[in-house]
Amino acid sequence: MTVGRFAPSPSGRMHLGNVFTALLAWLSVRSQGGKMLLRIEDLDPERSKPEFIHALREDLLLLGLDWEEEMPLQSGRAEVYETYFSKLPVYPCYCTRKELHSARAPHSSDGTFLYEGTCRHLSPAQRAEKSRAPSWRLALDHREISFIDGIYGLQKQIPAQACGDFILRRADGVYAYQLAVVVDDALGGVTEVVRGRDLLDSTPRQIWLYERLGFPVPKFIHVPLLVAPDGRRLSKREADLDLSALLLRYSPQELTGILAYAAGLTDSPGPITPQELIHSFAWSKLPQENISILEYFK
Ligand code: GLU
Repeated sequence: MTVGRFAPSPSGRMHLGNVFTALLAWLSVRSQGGKMLLRIEDLDPERSKPEFIHALREDLLLLGLDWEEEMPLQSGRAEVYETYFSKLPVYPCYCTRKELHSARAPHSSDGTFLYEGTCRHLSPAQRAEKSRAPSWRLALDHREISFIDGIYGLQKQIPAQACGDFILRRADGVYAYQLAVVVDDALGGVTEVVRGRDLLDSTPRQIWLYERLGFPVPKFIHVPLLVAPDGRRLSKREADLDLSALLLRYSPQELTGILAYAAGLTDSPGPITPQELIHSFAWSKLPQENISILEYFK
């Protein structure tokens, strides 16, 4: 059976882009008669706010996007992540953010920097001299990872060259998204991951972890991003595209209608429910290009 998930971060109300991804994830699962999980990603204590957790559930239901099961919040799962972290080849890294960022420009679209392994070969004596708490990095091999994305097709990457040894646990003890997402999706039995194209570059890192931890690798479908007419990505800072603002001007059915039309799923942007879209849903209707959306919200 297909098992999909919503994995929103409670750092604000849902934004139009989050609604778009959630709608597509739900349609894909429902059109296959599968099961949907809600998995709230409140890993980062500085960015997550409890009041948004409640709002996320309400917003999804209001839009007509339901789920069968909710997974426990990430903030209470440090012991679970620790279990898997301890099975991986890791080493302490003492580099400061400033040291890491000073000489380099971000390497890939998600702002990742290539880490050149500065701390990988420190001797025990050199480690003992450091006074700050370390973050923990994965000691990568040079394997090439490939997978077929449901929209973007064949993807190949050597994580050691694309991002280098990436962080699995931050210096403050918080486990990294890259580890938590793999552990949680795997333990939830997720077979299909639908999310924004901005995470396409992270997927090979995550597949590396799936394989190393002996988990079956799910199918990945990265969806085009919603953009302004000049191609700029719409961000959470665009307050008027926050669901609380949109719902003052549009009904959930009107929003769904606009998103479905912009995605190529319908012939007109009139109001519609997610339920009504299930029978005609097909991933092949989606474009690869990012989707310009602002013209519908004037
Ligand atoms: N929590 C992420 C977001 O809200 C999604 C991560 C994922 O789908 O893997 O953008």
